Amino acid sequence: MLDLLGLNIETKMLIRLYALPILFLLGSLMLMVFTEERQENRLLAGVFELLNNVALWLSLILFVLFVITGLYASFLYWRWRDGKFQEICHVCGGMVVEKYGRFGAYSKCLACSATHSI
Ligand SMILES: [Zn+2]
Repeated sequence: MLDLLGLNIETKMLIRLYALPILFLLGSLMLMVFTEERQENRLLAGVFELLNNVALWLSLILFVLFVITGLYASFLYWRWRDGKFQEICHVCGGMVVEKYGRFGAYSKCLACSATHSI
């Protein structure tokens, strides 16, 4: 899908690198919005308060995950920019991630999506 947008290789790599942290952030923000809603019904007020507490904690956990994965992605990008990344793509020189598929471990480029068996 990213190939259709005509983005350059580094932009595509950054979008794929930060996709998970951004998902965590969006989930956290959506749960925060949910907790702000007040329920008028007095009979279900206790249930909604419990749900609000659960949503608030989940939101907090997702935010912590966003910070951790965001910092890790930034660390990986910094290493790649400095040329200290151990494995780079054999096609474009982009950052690769290790994955496990049907035929065992392989590396996939975050920039051009080229795969290479390990
Ligand atoms: Zn590549």
